[in-house]
Amino acid sequence: MQHYDVAIIGGGIVGLSLAHFLAPTRAVVVLERETAHGYHSTGRSAAEFTLRDNAPEVNALARISHAFMENPPEGFASVPLLTARGSLWIGTIGKEEAVTQARQKAEAAGIAVVPLTVVEAIQRVPFLDPAYVAAAYFDPNYWDIDVDTLLQGYARSARHAGAELVTGAELLGARHENGRWKVEASSGAFTADIVVNASGGWADTVAERCGVAPAGIVPHRRTAITVDLPADIDVASLPEINEIDEIYYFKPDAGRLLASPADETPCEAADVQPEELDVAYAAHYLEEATELKIGRIASSWAGMRSFSADRLPVVGPASDNPAFFWLAGQGGFGILTSPALGQLAASLLTKQPLPEAFAREGVDPAAFSPGRFA
Ligand SMILES: Cc1cc2nc3c(=O)[nH]c(=O)nc-3n(C[C@H](O)[C@H](O)[C@H](O)COP(=O)(O)OP(=O)(O)OC[C@H]3O[C@@H](n4cnc5c(N)ncnc54)[C@H](O)[C@@H]3O)c2cc1C
Repeated sequence: MQHYDVAIIGGGIVGLSLAHFLAPTRAVVVLERETAHGYHSTGRSAAEFTLRDNAPEVNALARISHAFMENPPEGFASVPLLTARGSLWIGTIGKEEAVTQARQKAEAAGIAVVPLTVVEAIQRVPFLDPAYVAAAYFDPNYWDIDVDTLLQGYARSARHAGAELVTGAELLGARHENGRWKVEASSGAFTADIVVNASGGWADTVAERCGVAPAGIVPHRRTAITVDLPADIDVASLPEINEIDEIYYFKPDAGRLLASPADETPCEAADVQPEELDVAYAAHYLEEATELKIGRIASSWAGMRSFSADRLPVVGPASDNPAFFWLAGQGGFGILTSPALGQLAASLLTKQPLPEAFAREGVDPAAFSPGRFA
């Protein structure tokens, strides 16, 4: 029977980033149930890179990841992984103070943001409704991620280093006996020293199939729509537009404008589909904040953002079986943190020191340890 050092369950951005960092020194197999990598959350994100919208522990991972994405390994990507976008933060009447406070908070954190008058905000996004916008500022520290190039880069380099990436392969169950996992997959059986759980919204299901206690990872549905803008608007040059209390956001997406009602509804792990009400909210916010009339929605989709109880990722060996390794709970930041979390998980699995950037950015792996919930 084929034996691997590490079997990674899940071929989204999280599983493939780990395969990239692990394959040079370990025999790795990645099992992906679907026929294509990235079919679930990874293929449904808003592709945003932000350095500051998340918890401090996640922002530190983002800073480490930013360096990787700006300067990936030789041959990893034929186009830039990040493209500058910037974000316009807006508040309506009554939210002026919230905008000022958010701007001051960013400045206090050393982030160079640009205070804007309403006129200046509308110069940047001409279809915003001047009667709606009461305060605004611009934060240049936002980028678009080329998610497909990143995913394919991880996959290609992992394969090149000898990893086997198997699609159409569902983990059905695994037993840990005599120091080894006997893994039953829809593609066949094999053995492995370590099983890594990188199965996104299914993380607790996969743990149960391996006889490991769940970590309480809960998938939450998030919805996005896209609309066509009038032909005289240069969509590509627009910034992202964020409501100051993060009630909604809009951003350019492949020649259209993406709008999300920033919904976060707990759901069962599945091939989630958009609910009519969430689609209606997205269109409503777009009409409320702008002078656009939404006649037709060009596309809509939903995906899962999966969170642990404290909304930090869960990375490390399971308390009840150290041969089972958690790499889950990446919430709404799994793409942007994938270089740092892939490196962190690979260092823990190979018992190698963390790259120097982790100490510099103050990352303490204990913050992500599965043991924190024990
Ligand atoms: C609308 C939306 C917007 C988002 N915007 C952003 C953003 O702007 N920036 C950002 O960084 N993040 C964003 N995210 C979050 C990001 O998409 C996720 O954090 C990330 O994709 C998680 O990656 P993953 O590999 O864990 O999950 P997935 O891509 O879902 O991969 C998990 C894989 O595991 C497989 N699997 C499950 N069970 C099994 C099994 N038993 N056997 C084999 N395979 C199995 C599944 O088929 C799946 O392909 C967004 C998410 C959504 C939904």
